[in-house]
Amino acid sequence: MNWDAEAEKIIEEIPLPPIMGRFARMDAERRALQRGLDTVSPAIAKAVEKGYEHVFGKEATEIVRRMCLGEDVELPDEFFEDDDDELFKIEICPAKFGACTDGKRRMIQDIVAPVRALLKKLGTTDIILRRALTPLMSHHVLRVAVIGCPNCCMSPYFADIGIICAFRPGLREGCVQCGLCVKTCAEEALCLEDGVPLIDHERCIDCGACVEVCPKDAICIEQKGYKVVAGGTGSRHPRIASTVTPFTDLGGVLRIVEKIVLAYRDYPQGNKEISFHGMVERAGTQNLA
Ligand code: SF4
Ligand code: SF4
Ligand code: SF4
Repeated sequence: MNWDAEAEKIIEEIPLPPIMGRFARMDAERRALQRGLDTVSPAIAKAVEKGYEHVFGKEATEIVRRMCLGEDVELPDEFFEDDDDELFKIEICPAKFGACTDGKRRMIQDIVAPVRALLKKLGTTDIILRRALTPLMSHHVLRVAVIGCPNCCMSPYFADIGIICAFRPGLREGCVQCGLCVKTCAEEALCLEDGVPLIDHERCIDCGACVEVCPKDAICIEQKGYKVVAGGTGSRHPRIASTVTPFTDLGGVLRIVEKIVLAYRDYPQGNKEISFHGMVERAGTQNLA
């Protein structure tokens, strides 16, 4: 694929979170390929820029743009705190770098510091040190993934503990039957019945996308909370985390995290090392909620 010099410059300046930066270039080549072109033109580069602005929204795009210019964008310090002295690690989805809405970042911010403080208070590092039977390696580290919405951009289902922000929708008056919410819901959890929107809560994954598009605020976030999953790993024997609870509040998350750490501490150990995910697999999640 050939590149016009101006197109290269436009692509380089597109504000994207660090882990996504390389995709802009590939997306430009995708667009050129699909149009049967052998050169990426400035028009294609501009389309890439618009496309990402549409996906991330103006607010997030502006934050990342300011970050790229080295400006202080006042993202919470706790997002960037490292846990190098501990044997636990809290990983945050790209909302950490400004992606997505302020509301999602606030939900993450609400949970990160209390979870970190709890893991310290429980002596998680000490518990792991006492139980490890082999030289310490990265697989000994308790991985906690905090994710801003059910899009799950950072695989919380492969973490020991996954905490996923959830936005439970509810209906209000004022619907003008425009159908935007129905069109937006990728889970087919919404329909208009006799002109009235209906939510199928069995299908709904609490992503909040319908709320964001409703022009009349006829669908609102009724409750904010967190889904908690546990026991995931992408290691030698991959395992997708099991759901501990589909919806709870901050206090509920902390209770679950505490139960997981203490269950690990007290799990009977023979002469074989047991991991967090191994413990969850054997003991199940029924006593963790
Ligand atoms: S998981 Fe949700 S909040 Fe986090 S970066 Fe992805 S879309 Fe944004
Ligand atoms: S919250 Fe998400 S999954 Fe639930 S109805 Fe709205 S768009 Fe569909
Ligand atoms: S987007 Fe809002 S106004 Fe439009 S159909 Fe859905 S609830 Fe009604």
